[in-house]
Amino acid sequence: MCIKVLIVEDEIITALDIKISLEKLGFEVLSIEDTGKDAINKIKKLKPDLILMDIVLKGELDGIETTKLIKKRFDVPVVYLTAYSDKKTFERAKLTEPYGFIVKPAGIYELKCNIENAFYKYKLEKKLKKQADLLNLTHDAIIVHDMVDKITFWNKGAEERYGWHEEEVLGEVTHDLLKTEFPDSLNETCERFLSKGYWEGELIHTKRSGEKIIVSSRWALQKDENNIPIGFMEINSDITERKRAEESLREANDKLELKVQKRTAELNILVDELKRSNDELKQFAYVTSHDLQEPLRTIASFTQLLKRRYNHKLDENADEFITYIVEGANRMQTMIKALLDYSRVNTRNNEFKLYDFEEILNQTLNSLKIAIDESNAVITIDPLPTVMVDDKQMIQLFQNLISNAIKFRKKQGEMKIHISCKKVSNNYTFSVADNGIGIEPQFRDRIFEVFQRLHTRDEYSGTGIGLAVCKKIVERHGGQIWVESEFGNGSIFYFTIPVD
Ligand code: ADP
Repeated sequence: MCIKVLIVEDEIITALDIKISLEKLGFEVLSIEDTGKDAINKIKKLKPDLILMDIVLKGELDGIETTKLIKKRFDVPVVYLTAYSDKKTFERAKLTEPYGFIVKPAGIYELKCNIENAFYKYKLEKKLKKQADLLNLTHDAIIVHDMVDKITFWNKGAEERYGWHEEEVLGEVTHDLLKTEFPDSLNETCERFLSKGYWEGELIHTKRSGEKIIVSSRWALQKDENNIPIGFMEINSDITERKRAEESLREANDKLELKVQKRTAELNILVDELKRSNDELKQFAYVTSHDLQEPLRTIASFTQLLKRRYNHKLDENADEFITYIVEGANRMQTMIKALLDYSRVNTRNNEFKLYDFEEILNQTLNSLKIAIDESNAVITIDPLPTVMVDDKQMIQLFQNLISNAIKFRKKQGEMKIHISCKKVSNNYTFSVADNGIGIEPQFRDRIFEVFQRLHTRDEYSGTGIGLAVCKKIVERHGGQIWVESEFGNGSIFYFTIPVD
């Protein structure tokens, strides 16, 4: 690259002499100016790479004042030309940080070395400044230390992070300044760092304000051209917030875990209690319904006897009372028997085996033959599958559903019942559809509960336990039961049985 030079010299012979030498050396001389003012005016237009500046100039501005102005307004290196070395002037000139001094008259090689050195130094400084600017861009703290841990560089990020300016900390020992707390001891950390040339970890630093921060720190060894360590660079990112967030998350998690454990333990106790009381209740229902049968049978048979023997022998009231007692005892017997059936779904049952549902339906219809004939019900049945079930319970289930369909038929019109089955994913869904009186939507769940009926005994006989038994049977088989109905227009009872 051809360096373009501006010469500022008021002795025209010296100036021309230098110009000739420079051109011989391959430099380009843009202009010769003899006052500081003229030189400044030309810089913008000519854009020199370097200025050779005579210290003693005539006019308002000498070389030093001119250089000061140039430094303020332009980015171009200045090398002073000086004929004598007056110490005071020299010191004043040094303050303007020139890139070199050339003593006049200068030999051709002296000119070459000085100009090239100055230009090289200027370029290098620019490069370093660019890098330093880059380092200053980051919010991380970048600190360079020499081998005795004294700070030689402290970027803007370090200023922001710790609160000290660079000029306050240069020469300080980092770990004293920042009161560094190491995960291990300082010696151990340094040993590890020096052996690998690299270290990474978390440190605690104290800021100028006294506040402690946690930093994620990375250290790298710096070596000179002979591979001798000359210092190390450390980059510190503030992770205090992240650490705090992690800590509170951990605490919250621990608390939650404890809560869940406590809750699970409470729930387990509750489940055990529920299971126990459920078992007790089942046992109670079974035992009471079973044991109540005997005294009830005695009451029923003796009141019947009473009725037979003393009918019309006592007064009219007595006949009526005895009739009520007989009816009540009979009703109670029916209810207790139904309750016993309900209790027995889980206590007296058979193993699941493969049964053909068409056969199950045959047996069911046989057992209901009288009711079917009396009601003239027309029953149609789709092909049915063979499934693993307790056949007795399936017969009981269909008996309850079909006898209900017959019982809750409409007064007029042909009574129709259709039985069907569909395979839906892993379940068989059976349906018993009738064209009876239907069920109002608000009662569709309630009817599966024990003793829940929608009609009086005078309208329709029954105990209100049939569908509760159906539900228990279906649930014992791992299925579900529900009803769809249009009030006044029939009902379809569905239940599922798992295919496997
Ligand atoms: P019960 O038949 O002894 O009354 P269930 O438990 O079998 O008892 O039935 C409960 C109630 O559900 C019945 O009282 C009736 O109101 C209603 N119900 C059951 N099946 C049908 C049906 N097929 N059509 C209309 N209502 C029904």
